[in-house]
Amino acid sequence: MSGPELSKTIPETRERLQAVRNAGKSIGFVPTMGALHYGHARLIEAARSENDFVAVSIFVNPLQFGPNEDYSRYPRALAADIDLCRSRGADLVFTPSVDDMYPEKQLTFAEVGKVGDNLCGAFRPGHFRGVVTVVLKLLNIVQPDRAYFGEKDIQQLALIRRMARDLALPVRIAGVPTVREPDGLALSSRNRYLSPAERTAATVLYRALLRSRDLAQAGEAGASVIKKEALRVLESEPLGKVQYFDLVDENMQPVDRVTPGIRAAVAVWFGSTRLIDNMELVRIDKDSQ
Ligand code: AMP
Repeated sequence: MSGPELSKTIPETRERLQAVRNAGKSIGFVPTMGALHYGHARLIEAARSENDFVAVSIFVNPLQFGPNEDYSRYPRALAADIDLCRSRGADLVFTPSVDDMYPEKQLTFAEVGKVGDNLCGAFRPGHFRGVVTVVLKLLNIVQPDRAYFGEKDIQQLALIRRMARDLALPVRIAGVPTVREPDGLALSSRNRYLSPAERTAATVLYRALLRSRDLAQAGEAGASVIKKEALRVLESEPLGKVQYFDLVDENMQPVDRVTPGIRAAVAVWFGSTRLIDNMELVRIDKDSQ
């Protein structure tokens, strides 16, 4: 199978995608920071199944990393990433440089109010401003019909959905369910930082989420009861240091009661690696809507 086209600059990418649109083809877009794994592969597969042309971007966005975060050590694996894109049938891989994306100091930013205030937003100042700004910029470059994001980063997905609605962006935002290891750990480019002992311990996020879901599905509706029990599970793991565990609605606002659509969201440090995960506790019954 021949590989995807590679495109490094914004003008080159715009020109190529304009030709695709002129040919009447729909475009699906998967923005990533590279170090691709099977979670990213699912997003590409979803894009492949719903669009004529699939573009993937690989860009480690400095704007979304705090000064003491892992920007410089974030894993970069371009050759393997291109192979994965090829294996899933991507048509174009866009790999801009930092100078292409930010030729001058960025003065314009997108922010989505309270959706970004809690959970990760409370602990990573400026992070979501950087995420939402780069996604808006990438959407302006690629101009896809549909863009695909993982539910694994649920606050990011909520922010982008809200931005798309608030700004009437001409794109459909699609959420893709979290892909997990057989033992439940959500796939993440950062899992490779974990020591073997931390990797074993890291399933505690999934265990705490499952315990919360079991409680909710057994009829427990009190958020404080569920939180207490989830924290008990999380704190039973000595290698982990809990940053937050909370129950939130679709705008990432904390709730007191569990209703359909409410999610539990968690962040835990293992050494210098921070892992996040989340789970819907009671499904929204789509048939009754
Ligand atoms: P990243 O490269 O970490 O910025 O992620 C790029 C996209 O892949 C984001 O939309 C993520 O939510 C999504 N993603 C990352 N991990 C997973 C996973 N385990 N399952 C599904 N999607 C994921």
